[in-house]
Amino acid sequence: MPARRIDLHTHSTASDGTSTPAELVRAARAAGLDVLGLTDHDTTAGWAEASSSLPAGLSLVRGAEISCVRQGVSLHLLAYLFDPAEPVFAARRRELRDSRVGRAEQMVRRLAADGVPVSWPQVRQLADGTVGRPHVAQALVAAGVVGSVSQAFTAEWVGTHGRYWVPKLELDVLDAVGLVLGAGGVPVFAHPAAATRGRTVGDEAIMAMAAAGLAGLEVDHADHDEAARRHLRGLAAELGLLTTGSSDFHGSNKTLALGAHLTTGPAYDEIAGRASGVPVVTG
Ligand code: AMP
Ligand code: ZN
Ligand code: FE
Ligand code: FE
Repeated sequence: MPARRIDLHTHSTASDGTSTPAELVRAARAAGLDVLGLTDHDTTAGWAEASSSLPAGLSLVRGAEISCVRQGVSLHLLAYLFDPAEPVFAARRRELRDSRVGRAEQMVRRLAADGVPVSWPQVRQLADGTVGRPHVAQALVAAGVVGSVSQAFTAEWVGTHGRYWVPKLELDVLDAVGLVLGAGGVPVFAHPAAATRGRTVGDEAIMAMAAAGLAGLEVDHADHDEAARRHLRGLAAELGLLTTGSSDFHGSNKTLALGAHLTTGPAYDEIAGRASGVPVVTG
């Protein structure tokens, strides 16, 4: 049997991707994937459409990417196969999403006050689900002040701590690990060493997360260079964590293709085996 092609971290229009969940699962199969993880920011809103549109031969790992913080450093926690109805975690996800609305509105207000032709109704309309900086960035592209979404992620615009950046609510990552486990899910630290996006946490934070029940580290990710991957792989081996690889596909908001990085069959089987929230959906 040829190796399965497994990509466990992607975004749809339920957050800041540009493909609808139905388009995403079809594109995943067309890209030759056998397993796709749908991990929109702080939401499960894309799960139903992705499940009901699943092409034959594709398995869907329902997940989310949770906005977290540890000692002042923002970070992302992937949550796989948790029960979306578990009330404690569901309430926290709602708070995260609600906070993003006021925050995006504030960024737009500040931009408009400085004469940049963007408006809140426009940004609200660009976001089908969880609103985020990529939607504000799209409005900046439309306004002609930057040439691409990526170019808006700078100190001059909405890059972290940038001129028009406003912080959002984030969960303490140790609490978040507990919330995911409490909902029967499997927590994996997303792009732990993605230094291009801002500060990253050190090994002691990963050790604390491991002690709290973290299952794995996302090692193969576009934002990690070879040295970072080697280091993370060593740390994962030391701490008994599994490792994953993913594209973090966002459609045309980013340049990476589906399947750009992959997770091994055994790591995926372990994630599926550990979960007790919801099953993998098979198409
Ligand atoms: P937010 O969660 O609203 O703070 O926005 C963060 C989102 O912006 C994440 O999904 C990132 O994938 C995306 N993002 C961060 N940096 C960039 C960049 N340079 N180009 C495009 N998207 C980015
Ligand atoms: Zn995103
Ligand atoms: Fe992320
Ligand atoms: Fe992501």
